Amino acid sequence: MNLILFGPPGAGKGTQAKYLVNRLNAHQVSTGEMLRNEIKNNSEIGIRIINDMNDGKFVSDEIVNKLIKNVIFDPQKKNKLIFDGYPRSLSQAQNLDLLLNSSNQKIDFIFFLNVNKDTIIKRIEKRKILEKRSDDELDTILKRYDTYMETTKPVLNFYSKNSNFYEIDGTLEISEITSKIDAFLNV
Ligand code: AMP
Repeated sequence: MNLILFGPPGAGKGTQAKYLVNRLNAHQVSTGEMLRNEIKNNSEIGIRIINDMNDGKFVSDEIVNKLIKNVIFDPQKKNKLIFDGYPRSLSQAQNLDLLLNSSNQKIDFIFFLNVNKDTIIKRIEKRKILEKRSDDELDTILKRYDTYMETTKPVLNFYSKNSNFYEIDGTLEISEITSKIDAFLNV
């Protein structure tokens, strides 16, 4: 089974992805984590992206799509993919469709964790203390939220007509969101 966790920064995609990795014996595909690792390893990609990441700007499709392609064509991960933070734009959604088609895979569930701006700000302020992410400063959070509204949210039109699209109130407690996801998976 492959699924997408969709929603604004701070919606809880990463938290639910980690739960689903255990529940489904699957792999979390977090482009954000992959990119942070590139920076940590001081790789060529890491050096190219560090400023944009710190500013909360998108990393280029060229880089992100390459990372995603490697995961999708990894035979160990086939049909065990939990996308978290990808796709983030219409062009990425179209790219994902192409890559899945050419690897004989599909998306089985799309979960949209819907959260309002105030909750996002509160959550990310907490995460800043716990995870010390350089893109969790208030001005960067606000920029990332605006980018979500302008570029990522339109992707909902691409997915929301699908019969496997489910909207979940992302302001609920973590365990309540998990139960809702479980209920949809068990139908
Ligand atoms: P995240 O961990 O998903 O909140 O992502 C952290 C940061 O990584 C984002 O603010 C972007 O700078 C970058 N990033 C993650 N995923 C993508 C993506 N799909 N496209 C472009 N940039 C991304």
